[in-house]
Amino acid sequence: MSAHEGSCHCGAIRLTLRDEPTEVSECNCSICRRTAGLWHYSSPSRVTVEGEPKGYQQGDRMLTTWHCGTCGCTTHWTAVDPAYDRMGVNLRMFDPALWESLPRKFVDGASF
Ligand SMILES: [Zn+2]
Repeated sequence: MSAHEGSCHCGAIRLTLRDEPTEVSECNCSICRRTAGLWHYSSPSRVTVEGEPKGYQQGDRMLTTWHCGTCGCTTHWTAVDPAYDRMGVNLRMFDPALWESLPRKFVDGASF
């Protein structure tokens, strides 16, 4: 398994993913429908984030959505609870060769 390197547009936030995505998730919740992220769900132990992303916490959710303060790209989300072994990586920050041919899964986040 090789590591995949991604970054925001300006390069200030860099992501290393030690995981092989097999599908991408599109979510229709109030934040994902705006950011248009294509998510790969992973364990935080398999992802390294470098740089200083800015976090945004929705009022009613237990997730922080992170973006670059310079170029604005949404890079990933993490759980507020550090014991929750799941995070989302926005595959759009990576080479399209990694994700563009993968099946897309629709996540109905607006309904829960
Ligand atoms: Zn940036």
